[in-house]
Amino acid sequence: MTKYQALRDAVGQATPGEWSIGPSYTDDDGYIELPIYSVVDGQKTAPMAIALQFPYVRGMQEANAAFVTLAHNLTPDLLAERDEHAAEIARLRALVSEMADNDTYEIEYDDGRMYSVCHGCSAQDDDEHNPNCLYVRARAALPQ
Ligand SMILES: [Zn+2]
Repeated sequence: MTKYQALRDAVGQATPGEWSIGPSYTDDDGYIELPIYSVVDGQKTAPMAIALQFPYVRGMQEANAAFVTLAHNLTPDLLAERDEHAAEIARLRALVSEMADNDTYEIEYDDGRMYSVCHGCSAQDDDEHNPNCLYVRARAALPQ
């Protein structure tokens, strides 16, 4: 299982709906609690609460609640964007690969012999391409 699938499964199994942070309160043990709410089928539900007791982490519970809420709410869109980017990278790699395989065009000498010329650096036949040639860089950018 990829890390993306693990994240997709985790967010799919979590309480649905957009999560939001409710008002904080202090419980009997001195924990400052921040409930995180969601609305499921019209019902307000609290899938979790962030609770921290210690004064030296004051502000940490708000930051943790904000992070958990944001991570839950953004994960589906971020995974969808990641999938779109992966598909776009695959499409562009195929295009670059096709381009890199077609780096020359043919020209005929006056005597009828043919020779090939690189579109990028004008290297002819078996000459070395210029190291900065677009086609050299394109081939180097492709996975080996
Ligand atoms: Zn070239």
